[in-house]
Amino acid sequence: MKIHEYQAKDILRRFGVPVQPGKVATTADEAERIAQEFGGPVVIKAQVYVGGRGKAGGVKIAQDPAQAREVAGRILGMDIKGLTVEKVLVTPALDIKEEYYLGVTLDRASQALVVIVSAAGGIDIEEVAEKEPEKILRHVVDMRWGLPPFQARKLLAAAGVPSVVVARGGAILSALVKACIESDATLAEINPLALTADGKVIAADAKIIIDDNALPRQKEYAAWAEPEEANPLEFAAKAEGLTYVKLDGDVGIVGNGAGLVMTTLDMVARAGGKPANFLDIGGGAKAAAMKKALLFVARDPQVKGIFVNIFGGITRGEEVAQGIIMAQSELPVGMPIVARLAGTGEVEGRAMLANAGLTWGADMRDGAQKIVAEIAAKGK
Ligand code: GDP
Ligand code: MN
Repeated sequence: MKIHEYQAKDILRRFGVPVQPGKVATTADEAERIAQEFGGPVVIKAQVYVGGRGKAGGVKIAQDPAQAREVAGRILGMDIKGLTVEKVLVTPALDIKEEYYLGVTLDRASQALVVIVSAAGGIDIEEVAEKEPEKILRHVVDMRWGLPPFQARKLLAAAGVPSVVVARGGAILSALVKACIESDATLAEINPLALTADGKVIAADAKIIIDDNALPRQKEYAAWAEPEEANPLEFAAKAEGLTYVKLDGDVGIVGNGAGLVMTTLDMVARAGGKPANFLDIGGGAKAAAMKKALLFVARDPQVKGIFVNIFGGITRGEEVAQGIIMAQSELPVGMPIVARLAGTGEVEGRAMLANAGLTWGADMRDGAQKIVAEIAAKGK
């Protein structure tokens, strides 16, 4: 999950990384008031989930509160790489002399975090990596120890960071690695780490990506998620505790168990259909859960029909059938539903579906073919 610069800086501050104070504004008025509070020149920075804001015109220095108001007014509402700027960070401007790059990222090949350091900071690190790879230093972190300050200092020195910056920069890099590990981040980056004219070493920008799989235990950060930025249905599903993934076809899919659901996607694709989404109801679902799952899947306006594929173990066929029948009256009129039930209670479940006039698949392939055919027939 991406978070904003001001949030990343909040995290880094807790780990002892020097960061400018800052406040978020959603209107030009507010930006003016904050600039007044800080006094002196401020930087107005677009808070959107993309990098390269500076180049796109989303980072500007304002000399006084009046200018802060004007600049914020221009940046708010701006489109940066397809994202609308809804808030800006207002922070006292630094007199930057030099810029360096510090990054930590999860490297699957090394099965560890990898620290990336460069004395050529401020600019796009991918660009440096491409054009001047010799300016970038990589170090695989020993996950037992993190990156002790002495190691961090050694790295910075080797990367050509001036010696006056190495001691404080080392402490910052070490803290960045700690912040990355403890907040379950897959990326933590300071670009630029600034050396100011008065000799301060400070994080002028920060970027952190939290591992989605860690959100259940990183509750504070999970609460920072912005529903309108992500997929609203996936967001709603998470809030309701449903395992749901949005895709881009027109067949809604409900199944139980990840393996069965994946196979169902393949079956639908093989039958010539395209899944719109899938919802895994897990084991032991009762009728009410089945009904809820169907109604949720149907909330996606792209869904033209639903395929329910259940292998009964603890989950009983009668419960599944009952749930489908209950959902039917609340689903859009004429929405095709095909169910395939196997295992516990399959005979009873199928009989219930047949009585209610619902289509059922003899097996997985038959069910997939039927739902694709019914959707096609409706489209004619
Ligand atoms: P990004 O473009 O999204 O990475 O946003 P940054 O926060 O990194 O800002 C881009 C550039 O603006 C930095 O590399 C700096 O050169 C400049 N910048 C940001 N904050 C300040 C500041 O406080 N003072 C000065 N002089 N320049 C700044
Ligand atoms: Mn930056």
